[in-house]
Amino acid sequence: MADALASYAVRASAGGRLVAEAPPVGRSEFQRDRDRIIHSAAFRRLEYKTQVFVNHEGDLFRTRLTHSIEVAQIARSISRHLRLNEDLVEAISLAHDLGHTPFGHAGQEALNDCMQTHGGFEHNLQSLRVVDLLEERYAAFDGLNLCFETREGILKHCSPAHAAQLGEVGARFLAGRRPSLEAQIANLADEIAYNNHDVDDGLRSGLLTLEQLAEVGLFASHLAQVRDACPGLVERRVVHETVRRMINTQITDLIRQTEINIRAAKPETVDDVRACPALVAFSPQMQAANSELKHFLRANLYRHYRVMRMSAKAQRIIRELFAAFDGDPRLLPSTVRTRGADTLARAVADYIAGMTDRYAIREHRRIFAIEAL
Ligand code: MG
Repeated sequence: MADALASYAVRASAGGRLVAEAPPVGRSEFQRDRDRIIHSAAFRRLEYKTQVFVNHEGDLFRTRLTHSIEVAQIARSISRHLRLNEDLVEAISLAHDLGHTPFGHAGQEALNDCMQTHGGFEHNLQSLRVVDLLEERYAAFDGLNLCFETREGILKHCSPAHAAQLGEVGARFLAGRRPSLEAQIANLADEIAYNNHDVDDGLRSGLLTLEQLAEVGLFASHLAQVRDACPGLVERRVVHETVRRMINTQITDLIRQTEINIRAAKPETVDDVRACPALVAFSPQMQAANSELKHFLRANLYRHYRVMRMSAKAQRIIRELFAAFDGDPRLLPSTVRTRGADTLARAVADYIAGMTDRYAIREHRRIFAIEAL
């Protein structure tokens, strides 16, 4: 397989691991990273964490676990087509959400507010913290000791202030350099996955209607294709068939535009890729269509009053848990205080960020409901 890779694909880890290890037997370095991610506690918890809906709202909605698997599938398809390193792109995709708080974006915002005077809370940074420090599974090191290229891909965004403290993996943010193409693919595969599954889950939940979505160009054109090609199809299948075709169109567009960009920039090595502007991209038309869809989802799904009510409750839970633990660390389970945090606030943030939706709800009840312990 290695020979089939493009010259600008990541082949082996040039940056290596923070703690040197013997090379793996029978699998690649990035396959070993993937395996470590899958066996981590943070990965299992993704099953009970959500992005838009709260975990107990229905068995059919995406969780961060199924979302991460969808991202990996999309990213691998793109990567294989472009002759890039599929193992690396899979590892990055499966790890990209490990640092997310319970209750999706609402939870992240609330925790960031709580941490304002303590250096803030960024979920990308937290994902890196999980794989570098917080997982306690190995005798020889904290975290999962992943390869540099996997860690680079996990750290999608980062403020300059934080980047300065992160050494090699933060350096690109200060130098204005890009990550590998594999990391760029995982990033946009994430976007393809969530836009499409939020449409699907939005319709399933009844918060969105087909009539509303028919106002959005990207959805409307695919819906018309499906209605045309398959008259009389039942509504559920119309939705799935439309979403399936949208994903396919976006992947195809991304591959085509990225090939154009690569041909124009002519990178020969991974280092050339890092010096180029972002090469993995949608066409300008697809970018416009995507931003229309995102705008629609923000206005009609993420700000739907039923989602807002749940978000408000979720934020109250996070804020109250933070205030309780930060105000009286004796309330923390004894295992929490032993972790590698510089301040109490950071230890509390690590603890809260690691909670699943349902664990946070239960913990809130145990702290605040007089009849629960
Ligand atoms: Mg994601």
